[in-house]
Amino acid sequence: MKILCDQMLGTLAKWLRILGFDTFYENAEMSDEDLLNIAKGENRTIFTRDKELIIRGKKKNLNVISIETTDLDLQLNQALKHVNIDEKSILSRCTLCNTVLDTVEKNKVQGKVPSKVFENNEKFWFCSKCNKFYWMGSHYNEMINKIDKIKKLQQ
Ligand SMILES: [Zn+2]
Repeated sequence: MKILCDQMLGTLAKWLRILGFDTFYENAEMSDEDLLNIAKGENRTIFTRDKELIIRGKKKNLNVISIETTDLDLQLNQALKHVNIDEKSILSRCTLCNTVLDTVEKNKVQGKVPSKVFENNEKFWFCSKCNKFYWMGSHYNEMINKIDKIKKLQQ
């Protein structure tokens, strides 16, 4: 499922990208009209806290999921009732720009990431758009913990 998050859902969008979901998000003022057009044109399900956008999206027969809380864990809990995590897709996208990451061989990363990171990791990814390297650091553990916590909430 492709997703579009409204401007109020930046952190949720970041997490959905970490989990591997193709997630449109712009931290910029966009009109409802623009968001609705993108959702329609790219076949994206709208995740929003904006009551007006919910009504307008439904009128246009778009898939709209109402997010009713500002708490990230509860937002993720709500979101994950509608989408299934594919373990293989976790950490496959850039959290900043949604681009699919390339895997990079370890020897190509030397000197480009902190030396501790280089020593402690075997797998690296790269966003060609942001010029940013990713690895399974504390970020990854934080993510696993959060997913576990959310799964418990859903039981
Ligand atoms: Zn990027």
